[in-house]
Amino acid sequence: MDKVILTGDRPTGRLHIGHYVGSLKRRVELQNSGEYDRIYIMIADAQALTDNFEHPEKVRDNILEVALDYLACGLDPEKSTIFVQSAVPELTEITFYYLNLVTLSRLERNPTVKSEIAMRGFEASLPVGFVCYPISQASDITAFKATTVPVGEDQLPMIEQTREIVRKFNSIYGDVLVEPAVLLPSNAACLRLPGTDGKAKMSKSLGNCIYLADDEETVRKKVMSMYTDPGHIKVSDPGKLEGNTVFTYLDAFCRDEHFAKYLPEYENLDALKAHYTAGGLGDVKVKKFLNNVLQEELAPIRERRKEYAGRIEWVYEMLRAGSEKARLEAADTLEKMKAAMKINYFEDSDFLKDFISRQ
Ligand code: ATP
Ligand code: MG
Repeated sequence: MDKVILTGDRPTGRLHIGHYVGSLKRRVELQNSGEYDRIYIMIADAQALTDNFEHPEKVRDNILEVALDYLACGLDPEKSTIFVQSAVPELTEITFYYLNLVTLSRLERNPTVKSEIAMRGFEASLPVGFVCYPISQASDITAFKATTVPVGEDQLPMIEQTREIVRKFNSIYGDVLVEPAVLLPSNAACLRLPGTDGKAKMSKSLGNCIYLADDEETVRKKVMSMYTDPGHIKVSDPGKLEGNTVFTYLDAFCRDEHFAKYLPEYENLDALKAHYTAGGLGDVKVKKFLNNVLQEELAPIRERRKEYAGRIEWVYEMLRAGSEKARLEAADTLEKMKAAMKINYFEDSDFLKDFISRQ
């Protein structure tokens, strides 16, 4: 069986370093490994509309921003098909058939959706489209016959929902759909990078992000005002690592060679942590180190982003071509699904013959 990747992002804002460590960096590594037969990267505008339907301009404004973030991180349209979800209407049609295979109570049990509903204050007026987005996501994944979905931890319930739909479809209609596997970041700090405010998740919707497109000074300011250990007041106080965002970011981003370069008095992160928890190490020093580490990682991304922004017409055409290519693949799956569901009346010459023979 072919190895296929499908993953994507909602164009609700520019991409941030949570996306980078949670999914984007891994995608680029997988793309360059040459181990995959096909790679599809989707800008999920239809999904973004499920909770931004009153602000279509927000979604529209971020399509090319997300495409620029992709290219800046090293996604290569020669190797990965980058496309826009709404430009592949087959996905909506597939979603419609999947709606029959999922119960409302199953949707309401999805823990990620539950917390997103609370965060958006949707409890009293929950849009049906929003609660159903995991079904639409199952359609996105299966339309491309994806075997591997590299995402952050918040997406686990979506992949589980997808697998259930695949099993149900195949058991009713026959073996058509491919059951995907999730690929989570191997580094625990990257599973769900917290926001700069210490909140559980860095998220465009929470405004606690360091964006890939942020300039050097903006990144520095955000790092210097990051949440640490509120009990660590004097430098001599022992500091806590749990829930200390600066250390979580170091867990996600720093390597031993960063110490040799920027903070040679420590051998590695363990040594820095030991000093911090013993007391005698100030937050400012740790933040300055984190700033150096982040700037080193982000500088080349920022540069490439500027280069691609300088030829935005090319980026626009790349998205159009990617969407056309993606459409062919989704149409192929839809055709197979419709045949299995016996609703391919005009493609199936037996349809009429069967009717006549029953007379
Ligand atoms: P929104 O607030 O609009 O939902 P978001 O910041 O949650 O935006 P998504 O587009 O929903 O971003 O997520 C895209 C991908 O990035 C998913 O694979 C998700 O798991 C991953 N991701 C998002 N935020 C983080 C994070 N803080 N840490 C690790 N991975 C993340
Ligand atoms: Mg999200």
